[in-house]
Amino acid sequence: MSNFDFIIIGAGASGLLLADALTSDDFFSSKSILIIDRDDKTTNDRTWCFWEKGEGKFDHLLHKSWPNIHFSGSGFERSASIAPYHYKMLKGIDFYDHYLEKIKKHPNVTWVKDRVTLVEETDQKDLVTAQNGFFTGDTVFNSWLNHQNVLSQKKYPLLQQHFLGWFVKTEKPVFNPEEATFMDFSIPQKGNTRFMYVLPFSEREALLEYTLFSENTLEKSEYEDGIRDYIKNNLGNTAFDITATEQGTIPMTCYPFYGHNSDKIMHIGIAGGWAKPSTGFTFYNTSKKVSALVEHLKQDRPLSKFYKRNKFWFYDLLLLDILHKHNHLGQSIFGSMFKKRNAQLILKFLDEETSLWEDLQIISACPKIPFIKALFRRFF
Ligand SMILES: Cc1cc2nc3c(=O)[nH]c(=O)nc-3n(C[C@H](O)[C@H](O)[C@H](O)COP(=O)(O)OP(=O)(O)OC[C@H]3O[C@@H](n4cnc5c(N)ncnc54)[C@H](O)[C@@H]3O)c2cc1C
Repeated sequence: MSNFDFIIIGAGASGLLLADALTSDDFFSSKSILIIDRDDKTTNDRTWCFWEKGEGKFDHLLHKSWPNIHFSGSGFERSASIAPYHYKMLKGIDFYDHYLEKIKKHPNVTWVKDRVTLVEETDQKDLVTAQNGFFTGDTVFNSWLNHQNVLSQKKYPLLQQHFLGWFVKTEKPVFNPEEATFMDFSIPQKGNTRFMYVLPFSEREALLEYTLFSENTLEKSEYEDGIRDYIKNNLGNTAFDITATEQGTIPMTCYPFYGHNSDKIMHIGIAGGWAKPSTGFTFYNTSKKVSALVEHLKQDRPLSKFYKRNKFWFYDLLLLDILHKHNHLGQSIFGSMFKKRNAQLILKFLDEETSLWEDLQIISACPKIPFIKALFRRFF
């Protein structure tokens, strides 16, 4: 049985970013690293969007970047420049190809393709059991998400951001390639929080995603009908071809995933609670968390001390409590926010970088009654 200094379970966004950060830093050059994934990461299984000020470390991999965003609510719409931010899009396959090639050059990294079935902490080492073998490590970083932990509790509601997307090529030029539709809530809500993402690459090509923040996923045909209706009602009923598809669910919850960490096993990525509970955005936050984690490791601080709860966790908790109980309210909450406040302030708030004064500006733009009721329900 081989022993490693670090074992990283999962070569997805968090696993590869962590492996890259460790192998790019001389401080860890003597450490042996095992990366284990059930998949070889050769398909374009997702696209990541995020916003960022100015230039960033993923720019050379971007598929597209937009200087403007569009938002539609019930009875109003707004297009705005988000300078100094850009809304950026990265294809999963470009990310995997780049980081796999880069990390594989390091002789201290071992790759194993296998499905992990158990991770245990013993007195001496952590033990990772996979279908075809056992491995021991001093420290394990685990991005394998265990849904059961979240499902088996009731204190923190669990919603999903669930969506199906079509990459389309249209007959008529119907898109503005300078503008990404961040959320279009003008579609029928059907008692839920439902919106469209529209990410145009040219006047005739875009990714359209029919998206919900709700408890239960839909039949595939319902997302597809939603996209078809959107093209009919909002994009001049143009003819189109579907060139590719993507589908996903991202857990939205304030469940304290970090409660499963110890000084030897740490959960990373979505499994570590790195997805923003109120939006599902995870990618850029993961990049920030990885940088902080590497500094933490260099200072030899206990892994169990990595997490701190902040005020944004509490804001997200109230929003999720509201949407869990009254799922249709998403349209009016996000709508009021975008109607009354500028997009840059909202993006800064979602990035968890606003001051208390700026938080109050966002909070005061939202409908008050649902938040006051949610606050009372939480405390009493
Ligand atoms: C289709 C889709 C689109 C998304 N779009 C965005 C977006 O635009 N912006 C954004 O911020 N977030 C987005 N997300 C959310 C989030 O950024 C991604 O899910 C991101 O990949 C999460 O990173 P991760 O490392 O936690 O998980 P993953 O990237 O999913 O990595 C986990 C890895 O673990 C491996 N694995 C799982 N179980 C085992 C096991 N038992 N044994 C071995 N290996 C295992 C998997 O094969 C995978 O490679 C999207 C998610 C999906 C699904």
